This record gives sequence, structure tokens and C-alpha cells, in this order.
Amino acid sequence: MMIGLEKNIKVKSYSFSDQGPHLLITAGVHGDEWEPILAVQRLKKILENTSLAISGQISLVSITNEPAYNLGERTAEDGKDLARTCPGNLDGSITEKIAREISGLIQKADFYIDMHTGGNEFEIYPLAGYMLHSDPDVLNHQRSMARAFNMPIVWGTSPDLDGRTLSVARDANIPAIYTEFGGGGESLPKIIDSLIEGCFGVMRYLEMAAWDEEIKQREQFWLEDFRKSSGHLQIMHPSSIDGIFSSQKKIGDIVGKGEVIGFVDDPLSGNNSEIIALEEGVLFLLRKYAKVNKGTATAGVLPISGPGKYQLYE
Ligand SMILES: [Zn+2]
Repeated sequence: MMIGLEKNIKVKSYSFSDQGPHLLITAGVHGDEWEPILAVQRLKKILENTSLAISGQISLVSITNEPAYNLGERTAEDGKDLARTCPGNLDGSITEKIAREISGLIQKADFYIDMHTGGNEFEIYPLAGYMLHSDPDVLNHQRSMARAFNMPIVWGTSPDLDGRTLSVARDANIPAIYTEFGGGGESLPKIIDSLIEGCFGVMRYLEMAAWDEEIKQREQFWLEDFRKSSGHLQIMHPSSIDGIFSSQKKIGDIVGKGEVIGFVDDPLSGNNSEIIALEEGVLFLLRKYAKVNKGTATAGVLPISGPGKYQLYE
């Protein structure tokens, strides 16, 4: 085992054999996403004590954005979103430096998993996502990795979004997925367990680890959304006023187009407004922290309402 110390990021690398790929797994790109951080901590223990035959190399970063974690916030003191700042700049602010370092680690890997939650403000229904890469080999690996992570939703989105860890992987032709599960302040053991199982599912797909028992592939809602801004979570069902959001629905509910998802009430002005579903589909993102500013997201609907594969175009 080797402990690599980038200047601002702690990475642990485990070399099991010269054959096999190098898989990078990161958590804590945002400083308020708890379960992925704990899942990577547990993965370290598992890999240090495993009797499993593992091939290749695995690098783990449990807290990519330590200054943000220390604040318990999405971003560090400079207010820059690490997932919009890649590939970063070593001479820049703290987030720009971390972006440069994590980008360097991604560029050295063969495959990449980046795990997230909805942070302090949102809850997200479990999903594994990827960019609709122009290289068919990269895209097919990403599809398989996302499915192997075994979350109920698999989501391919626009490759045109920049600044993310996945954009760095895209530009380097490294197959990469991200995951989203949970959020809203608490940390749930069942989420940690399923993230670990998901990582092992991907390792199994990559033939880095073998299992005797058959792993049950879950029925999945699988959407490939080729529309331009697909995958940008912060713009979904924005509130038209400042106020307090009360949800009428639960995460994972199927909502109809035009159905009321919730209400925003402004106790200062007395104004109120309804949040209406813009499409029919699965409510996969829901605001948990109720106080909302005008223009910020309250809810996200993925336009799929049953298992199977769907593709959407402009
Ligand atoms: Zn995140």
C-alpha cells in the first residue's frame, strides 16, 4: 500500500497486481455529502483486510474537498463549486488548486467513480450517471459501469457540461460514472452499504474482483437524455419567489405533468406559489432544506415512469 499526498488531497492507492486496470474512486467533492465519504473510508478498511483476489490498482479519496468538509458546506471559503472548477489551476484559489490536483489524479486512472449526495439542501433518489461520450468504447464502458453500480436509476446526460470531475475524464477518454444517493443533512448506514456494493459491482464488471455468488441485477429505469442542459441539477423547478418550500410528494414518487409537487410561501410578503411538475416522471430530486431563494431548485423530475431504456432528443 502506498499513501500519496498531493498537496491538498489525501489519496490512498492499493496495488494488487500489475495486470488489471487502475480504478479511482472519489467522495467529498462537495463538503456536505456524508455517506460517500464514509463509504470510501470503509472501502479502505475492506481493501486493507480483504481475502478477495483483486487485480489491478485502486486509488481512493474519501474527502476530495477538505476545506469545504471542514465548513460542512458544499464549497470552500472561496465559494467556488469544485464540480464547476475542474481542471483548475495550481496558482489559483484553494478550490482551483484542489481542482487541478483531482484532475491530475483522474488523468492517471483507467476508470473513475465519483460519489455524491444531494448535500445539505437536497435529497436524491439513488442513481448512477454518465456523460453521453462521443467515443463508443468509452460510452459503452460507462453504460456498463453505471448499470453495474446497481442503482434503480441509470442516467446518461449531455456531454457538454464543463468544469466537473467527469468533464476531465471525458476529455481524457477515461470511462467515468458519478452516483447520487440521499442527502438532506443526515447520514444513513443503508446508503453507505449500497455505495460499497455498487463499487464492488463496478470492480466485478471490470474483472478486478470475482464473486462466487450471483449478484442480482436490479430492474432499472434507464434514461439517455441527449437534450443540451440535461444533467444540470441546480436549474430544476426553480422557485419563483423567496420563501419556505413545503413538499406534497416523496422522493421516488411518479408525478404527472401539471401535478403540484409543493408550495413556496413567503411569510414576509404573504406571497405564495405552487411548484408544478413540468414533465411526467420520477421525482428524483427534492429540496429538503425548506428555505428557498427565488430562482433556486425545488425538485427534479426524470421523464421516465417505468423500468426499461428510454432515449430523449432535442
Ligand atoms: Zn455533490
